[in-house]
Amino acid sequence: MSRSTSAGSGGHRREIGVAVIGAGVLGLAVVDSLVRRGVDVVCFDGRVPGSGLSGGLTRTFRHRHDDERHVAMAVDGLAGFREWERRSGRVLVGTEGAVYSGMGPADVKGLALHGVEHRFVEASRQDEVFPGLAPVDGPLLVDPGAGAIRARNTIDALVGWVGDRIVQADIHSVTVPRDGDGVEIQTTEAIYRARHVVIAAGTAVPRLARGVGIDIPLQSRLHVRPHFRIRGYEPGRTRPLPCWVDRAGIWGETVYGSPIGDTGKYVIGLIGAEVDTPFGPDGALPEGSSTLVDAQRIVEYVERALPGLDPEPVGVRVCVMTKLPAGSDALRAWHTDGVTAVAGHNLFKMAPVLGELLADAAQNNELPERLVDAGAGALDAP
Ligand SMILES: Cc1cc2nc3c(=O)[nH]c(=O)nc-3n(C[C@H](O)[C@H](O)[C@H](O)COP(=O)(O)OP(=O)(O)OC[C@H]3O[C@@H](n4cnc5c(N)ncnc54)[C@H](O)[C@@H]3O)c2cc1C
Repeated sequence: MSRSTSAGSGGHRREIGVAVIGAGVLGLAVVDSLVRRGVDVVCFDGRVPGSGLSGGLTRTFRHRHDDERHVAMAVDGLAGFREWERRSGRVLVGTEGAVYSGMGPADVKGLALHGVEHRFVEASRQDEVFPGLAPVDGPLLVDPGAGAIRARNTIDALVGWVGDRIVQADIHSVTVPRDGDGVEIQTTEAIYRARHVVIAAGTAVPRLARGVGIDIPLQSRLHVRPHFRIRGYEPGRTRPLPCWVDRAGIWGETVYGSPIGDTGKYVIGLIGAEVDTPFGPDGALPEGSSTLVDAQRIVEYVERALPGLDPEPVGVRVCVMTKLPAGSDALRAWHTDGVTAVAGHNLFKMAPVLGELLADAAQNNELPERLVDAGAGALDAP
């Protein structure tokens, strides 16, 4: 997998083809793609694979995005998930669909452009698409091809395919050495030189990319997601609840929701510019901050909006989320000679297609057209 150089380096310097930093869903997808192309690749992670931003059991797969390029990526992402399902023999994206409130014709332009099936359902027929939702006063948008991503199953499948390429090591830095011979990676286990480095290290992307002169304005925030029991749930008999995006805010909050596979549980989180607690530049939370406040807002939302759920939470996850200034669906890749970095939010659904595109970048030492926008390397949501 990697070899030590003999040129007077005493075996402490190892040479590799491509180094992927991070064994989250993105890094693992890149490694999987490179392995299938026959590329010499090593994946570094200091923790258990899939325990960073990709942790937990569920994510929403939805097609609708404000930016039509993200709709196109979601379409390709789902095709990629279906291929991963074929290879793993497991369900990775369910068929629960997604329902959105507060959407109008302008919000579905991207869906129409990319031929994604969707429809508006009148409030009087809301039970047909979302049983257990309190009465709404406007139409609901339905994205029937959406569903709940089985996040843990996805990570397990990827680790099953590329586990032998993962080296457990913390990365201290990525730099371009003065001798110009590849990119140097300082790790807890050895010093590596790689032909190309892909930085897919989640919250640590800005720190590691700074070492090669790339400045990434990624903000990390603490986010709370309680989960709730679906009332009267019987496995295999109860109609699954859809994923939920409430942008209308008629119950006083804007939220997302997602079933947790077929566990009979449902997770809710707040969305919007004013939610979640940002970490300061020193990595600390502001004094006195508490995620219990947001958790209580969610409980009260469930009491008002979702009579189909028991409003007493059965558990809670407190997670870190990352966000670029351009918004919650913003995604961007950066490139400099020998190094490609990726950051954004809501990227789980895009992992199969981003894995291929970042593998292209590593092989060709340039960003593929699809990750480039107006020469800035940006693909940001408006
Ligand atoms: C609460 C929550 C809800 C979300 N909801 C959705 C959703 O509904 N739909 C959707 O598509 N996406 C969603 N997302 C976003 C999605 O989960 C992330 O965009 C995606 O998982 C990012 O994966 P990643 O591989 O880039 O990062 P990560 O999973 O964080 O992987 C990075 C890895 O790098 C490792 N690492 C970091 N620093 C170092 C270092 N110095 N040395 C070695 N290893 C290092 C970490 O240990 C980690 O394993 C959500 C995220 C959160 C947190």
